[in-house]
Amino acid sequence: MSLSNKVAIVTGASSGIGAAIAQVLAREGATLALVGRNVANLEATKKNLKGAKAEIVVADVTKDADAIVEQTLAKFGRIDVLVNNAGILGKGGLIDLDIAEFDSVINTNLRGVILLTKAVLPHLLKTKGAVVNVSSCAGIRPFAGALSYGVSKAALDQFTKIVALEMAPQGVRVNSVNPGFVVTNIHRSIGIVDEEYNGVLQRAINSHPMGRVGDVTEVAEAVAFLASSKASFTTGALLPIDGGKNNLTPR
Ligand code: NDP
Repeated sequence: MSLSNKVAIVTGASSGIGAAIAQVLAREGATLALVGRNVANLEATKKNLKGAKAEIVVADVTKDADAIVEQTLAKFGRIDVLVNNAGILGKGGLIDLDIAEFDSVINTNLRGVILLTKAVLPHLLKTKGAVVNVSSCAGIRPFAGALSYGVSKAALDQFTKIVALEMAPQGVRVNSVNPGFVVTNIHRSIGIVDEEYNGVLQRAINSHPMGRVGDVTEVAEAVAFLASSKASFTTGALLPIDGGKNNLTPR
């Protein structure tokens, strides 16, 4: 197992991609701090790990960075891996931009990641650990009508590369995965109702050269790879998990 004796924090472990990341990291032997706000969903993720060593940390990534670190250390004594997965979508382009929603997206997808990574870093320096950020194909290329989200993920990608450069001499690796469309609750969370959803899904299927959308496990396997010593010479990388969407579709 590639993550035996490693302690990993996974934010947004209560749903979708984060719950799948918890599953795959546990399979690879990691001990997990499962971070999110929804206790019932975190309990469900933990139950699905079927006995792997894991603790729930009920926390908001926009304001609880120090508490997440303190609780993880109190329970497990070390931190080897940080997976910044928690994230939210925003609606609309510039003309209809809701600034309060923009602030919320930036707070969660960017500022929260910076705060938690900064709080965890002293502990990763001790373990020569790794950070994996869950970004998006929307960080690499622009999509009209997804302004807040695209800006937050593009900035997150630059954060990944800058911190990777700063930490490379100290042996801490920092990478990201950049998924295409994956079926989770995130699209319904911005109010896409049943009647619209099939159209959204079909357009997403058509926009990926492989002719389908992604599965949460496909993202999680890539996260596990980047978190492990199998990726020991990889840092500052943005890994598309997108059926060819970023590299193969005409612009
Ligand atoms: P979900 O909506 O299923 O899950 C989002 C997770 O983020 C939940 O576990 C939620 O936990 C957590 N979260 C959100 N805000 C906070 C907060 N303030 N504090 C703590 N946890 C928070 O979405 P996905 O699984 O799809 O998304 C996971 C990541 O993948 C996101 O970063 C997203 O941008 C990215 N992504 C998703 C794609 C997709 O198509 N699904 C494509 C590309 C990237 P809780 O509610 O318990 O707080």
